[in-house]
Amino acid sequence: MKRILSLVLLIFAMVLCFSASFSISSLSFCEDELISFIENSGIRTAGSEGEKQSANYIQKKLEELNISPLYEEYQQSFEYNDSTSQNVLGIVDNGSDKYVVIGAHYDNIYKLDQSEGVNDNASGVITSLNLAGNFATKNLDFNIIFAYFGAEEVGLVGSEYFLNNLTNEILDNIILYINLDSIGAGDNLYYYHYDAPTTYGTFVDSFAENYAITKLGTKRLYSNRNLLGINYNHIGLNSDNANFIKRGINSLTFFAGNLDVARLGFHETENKDTIMHNTDSLETNIEVFGEKFYLNMASVNNFVTDLLLSENFSENMSVREINPILLTDWFLKVLAIIFVIALGLGTFIFFKVKNKKTIINSSKK
Ligand SMILES: [Zn+2]
Repeated sequence: MKRILSLVLLIFAMVLCFSASFSISSLSFCEDELISFIENSGIRTAGSEGEKQSANYIQKKLEELNISPLYEEYQQSFEYNDSTSQNVLGIVDNGSDKYVVIGAHYDNIYKLDQSEGVNDNASGVITSLNLAGNFATKNLDFNIIFAYFGAEEVGLVGSEYFLNNLTNEILDNIILYINLDSIGAGDNLYYYHYDAPTTYGTFVDSFAENYAITKLGTKRLYSNRNLLGINYNHIGLNSDNANFIKRGINSLTFFAGNLDVARLGFHETENKDTIMHNTDSLETNIEVFGEKFYLNMASVNNFVTDLLLSENFSENMSVREINPILLTDWFLKVLAIIFVIALGLGTFIFFKVKNKKTIINSSKK
């Protein structure tokens, strides 16, 4: 009897142990990879040695995953402020003429050299590398470009260079750009495309109903940005997605935060703890968000994986519709031009008439 009891206890302990290790591994999504990236990269501001080191690290990971370089070499260098920065570009080529681009910037915020950039944006880089692993051998009806952008924090320089140097064959056939920026630190996960019912947006919205992720409307973004007193650039979040949106490319952005309480930054908790750029270390992120940090990354990973594997995905993504935000921008610009012309003409006519009157008056005298 004793023996049976101890056997039952042993089995019970083993089950407990197994379930505990299972939950730990699922709760600390890519923890080792994240730590390894941070330790190998150091401070990685645009054009710095640390940024170059991080690029080499990402390249090594892509090589290990057997992801081919998009061009002859993985790294695409460009000049930034008398120094050199670079994008790291890989491709899963499924022989299709359609492309999905998954992008994450890997540089750090500039000037604040103490930042480790763990949430912004090691969280996006590591999740994207995991996605690269998920899709390395999947044969889908579209190709996937994995883009790791340099010099984002100094004005979206890397992604602009990437887009300017793409062939039209690729540029015209990007069916969706997915942007991962700061996806760990936050009570909530958000996704953003635009408000108007586009084919691809409607597809994403109905897909998102089964996930714990909140759609973020442009109005909400506007009001928060205004509240924060930040000059908002009218084309979505200030991340690499802006460069895609302004070219009319369907785009989907993920980030973590709590916009119900946001005051100083996006990455706040209900009890108003905040991750700012100068406190963006692994220690602080885990202190404030605990397992939630990894869970957010895992959720984005699962959402993107499921979305790309969903039925009729590429058909629904292939339709490009004009971004209403751009329309508003153009409309305002046209209005501004008409206003300036009208003002110029008005002033011209006013002085012409005034001049005439003066001549008539002086000739009457
Ligand atoms: Zn960022």
